[in-house]
Amino acid sequence: MSTLGRMPPVVRIAPSPTGDPHVGTAYIALFNYAFARRHGGRFVLRIEDTDQERATPGSEEAILASLRWLGLGWDEGPDVGGAHGPYRQSERLEIYREHIDMLLASGHAYVCTCTRERLDALRQQQMKDKVRLGYDGHCRDLQRARDSGEPYVVRLRVPAEGKTVVHDQLRGPVEFDHAQIDDQVLLKSDGFPTYHLANVVDDHLMGVTHVIRGEEWLTSTPKHVLLYQAFGWEPPQWHHLGLLRNVDKSKLSKRKNPVSITHYREQGYLPQTFLNFLATLGFSMGEDRERFSLQEMIDAFEWSKVSPGGPVFDVRKLEAFNADDIRALSEAQLHERIVADVLDPERIRGMIRLAHERIVRLDDFIPYVSFFFGGSVDYAPVLPKLKLKKRTFAEAAKIIKVFIEEIEKDPQARAFGPEGLEAFARAFGERHEWKPRNLFTLLRVGATGRSAAPPLFDTLALLGKDRVRMRLREFAAALLAHAEVSK
Ligand code: GLU
Repeated sequence: MSTLGRMPPVVRIAPSPTGDPHVGTAYIALFNYAFARRHGGRFVLRIEDTDQERATPGSEEAILASLRWLGLGWDEGPDVGGAHGPYRQSERLEIYREHIDMLLASGHAYVCTCTRERLDALRQQQMKDKVRLGYDGHCRDLQRARDSGEPYVVRLRVPAEGKTVVHDQLRGPVEFDHAQIDDQVLLKSDGFPTYHLANVVDDHLMGVTHVIRGEEWLTSTPKHVLLYQAFGWEPPQWHHLGLLRNVDKSKLSKRKNPVSITHYREQGYLPQTFLNFLATLGFSMGEDRERFSLQEMIDAFEWSKVSPGGPVFDVRKLEAFNADDIRALSEAQLHERIVADVLDPERIRGMIRLAHERIVRLDDFIPYVSFFFGGSVDYAPVLPKLKLKKRTFAEAAKIIKVFIEEIEKDPQARAFGPEGLEAFARAFGERHEWKPRNLFTLLRVGATGRSAAPPLFDTLALLGKDRVRMRLREFAAALLAHAEVSK
């Protein structure tokens, strides 16, 4: 038994701020939190923001806000006005460089000056030969210098032979042949560490005893084990939980389902209900007991009750839990929740701004802004009247789907402010040869269920990305269904 097993555990979540806070992060956070609390350990939050290209503004704040909403507070981190901020890898670059020096000095890593062209050509050849893709070790024994002025990366020297066994506490031993493990880049040419190096160095320095994360990281773990060996450190215990899945067992992804925690918060699920729902996906209380509080989960937490099998994120179950929990609130509590979550003053002010020039009587306000509330909208009344110049409904459905996908690829659109959205939508229309008017009509009807609504881009921004994405997806389906019946 490792010495780590006898100390109060230190666990962490290490989200990358690359988009909306994902329900998978909440799932992993919950299990880390419950385990730490059960044993009087510590729960650390570390923002892994070393991939500057993928980082999105606002993402870190959204992660913190989601964890606070769920009540999964972290125990340490730099002091920010009396509270703990998260650790941020971008503030620790010096530490990673020192550790790179250590690995180079001990020969566990090496400098590689292969150019992008060489690596691309290598990849082409490997695809042609149908062999494993990956670095061929060209620079491994060439003792490249770091000060030649040439751009370089630093790679892990994975032993040529043998294998590494990951002892996963939920899955048992998992073997990886070294022949299948790439000489992983540890330091990029821009001087930033990769996930693998920064993650291992931080886990060690932060005293992490148990790494509890999603199974998508399992194939990275042998590289991490090799890094622990290279540094001469004792590795943590590994627990890879199952990946959240849609009801059809496919990987949960925003193509099919809303996956951002913010969405569930905005839709009015109660935080404790949401946690209970997530807990049931991988934790069993026994005797088929599905309803329990976070404290009850903590008190009962044992790894033998945790299953790594594909947890199914079934929104209908979440809805059933939520309905029960709303019934169980007192009227005063329900009032408080509705005022806080549905009638959020900032959002209401945004609606007032849009209604100001357009309503005749005060009580027009609620009907005028009603589409801002609730999830799905009914397209049946508007579809028969929808006119698209020279375009079929099938084409319209297709372009809507492409629109949803491209939002994520465009930093302006991703931030979802009115100006950015407008610029994006205009450029999108041009790129796909859709007249702005036609495209904007589609977006308006899809997002609001109405043919007339307040200015489009203000409306989309206030509706919020998750709601818009969900409605547009449903609208595309409705367009297709309508195209079928009117054939
Ligand atoms: N930065 C990784 C993520 O985004 C962390 C994975 C891990 O927990 O090691 O999830």
